[in-house]
Amino acid sequence: MSYQYQKRLDDAYVMHTYGRLPVEFVRGEGMELFDDAGRAYRDFLAGIGVCSLGHNHPAVTRALTEQATKLTSVSNYFYTEHRGEVAALLSKLANDDLDGARALVAALDAADEGAFDAAASPKPGERVWKTFFANSGAEANEGAMKLARLFARRQGNGGNTIVCLKGGFHGRTLETIAATMQDWLQESFTPLPGGFIACEPNDVAELRAIFDRYGSEICAVMFEPIQGESGVHPLTPEFLRAADELVHGVGGLTISDEVQAGVFRCGAPFAVQLAGVTPDIMSLAKGIAGGMTMGAVVARAEVADVFRPGDHGSTFGGSALAVAAAEAVLAELVRGDYAAHAASVGAYLASRLEELPQVTEVRGAGLMRGCDLVEEAGDAHDVVARLMAEGVIANATGVRTLRFLPPLICEREDVDVLIAALQRVLG
Ligand SMILES: *Cc1c(COP(=O)(O)O)cnc(C)c1O
Repeated sequence: MSYQYQKRLDDAYVMHTYGRLPVEFVRGEGMELFDDAGRAYRDFLAGIGVCSLGHNHPAVTRALTEQATKLTSVSNYFYTEHRGEVAALLSKLANDDLDGARALVAALDAADEGAFDAAASPKPGERVWKTFFANSGAEANEGAMKLARLFARRQGNGGNTIVCLKGGFHGRTLETIAATMQDWLQESFTPLPGGFIACEPNDVAELRAIFDRYGSEICAVMFEPIQGESGVHPLTPEFLRAADELVHGVGGLTISDEVQAGVFRCGAPFAVQLAGVTPDIMSLAKGIAGGMTMGAVVARAEVADVFRPGDHGSTFGGSALAVAAAEAVLAELVRGDYAAHAASVGAYLASRLEELPQVTEVRGAGLMRGCDLVEEAGDAHDVVARLMAEGVIANATGVRTLRFLPPLICEREDVDVLIAALQRVLG
């Protein structure tokens, strides 16, 4: 069906919560999207960091179609295939243990239960992580915050306040917009749930002052290691280490929102690992299942074990279909050594962006990059529209800032296509 037809129906019957660009995509293949007229676009957005292996990846498509013909959903009351395997893989990845993850993937490839069990079983001193499966990033963050509050309660710690960072983004539910310290996202929806304190990102002195004043009330510090929606702003390792130290000093927990930066995008399984900091809880979503809806709360076992039957749930979370997709995605990310790939192609992307005279600053890590433009370049949203006319999909997070979240299969030659288009558009 035609673009005009879809646009007419969408504009008339779908709520206008997103400003749409004038294109209808009907198909994707690898780094490319195709519109209704068959025109190809190089995709540097990937469904907002969702399609980590690009479009129509054979491993993901096979896993989805095979699972769809067997079983899609039976609820969390029963055991099904893949759920435990995905959680075991996440446990190795949360330890930044790529060799351990490779051993699990080799066992999966050999369909060898015994080998998987042996590779999964923790070595002496190995930290174990457990996963709760949800359906989205906001839901993963809700689960993470509930877990942090419950942990504080079960420890007999009176704290229930969560410290969040200005410029952060944690989702669109009432609780997660309360945690998102940006006025324009909050002001129309008051009253918001309480129990949050805002801190300036990377301001260790302010964080210390908050703990001096409110320490006994605090149960967690929640942060994105690289703030995505506000324009790709990384937290400094010093700030992350201070947060880790201060919150543990009051018996609380760190929650790393890895919804956008995590799952290999930034050159490590999870972005917080780049700073050498180990969080207590991580929330995941976007790239984890290659386009299937999935969110996940991953917590170290001593924290995770405070959840008992009835404390939390999700009808759809961890459906057989979603975990089949996640297993295919995670296995391929491990097999293809995509952390190293994202780091090297991402460094190339950053260096090519830095060469552009209209770019004033490049930020981020791996294949999560943002850059600021000179004022004469015009509104970044117009730049995005002009890039689309040149056959490249990107994103603006503000009037001066472009953001790139390509699939992790992105190669240098794809970067060259983007840079050439940017040169035409900005020149
Ligand atoms: C996208 C995003 C969310 C929200 O995820 P949804 O799946 O849209 O609910 C939360 N945190 C971060 C860091 C995100 O980028």
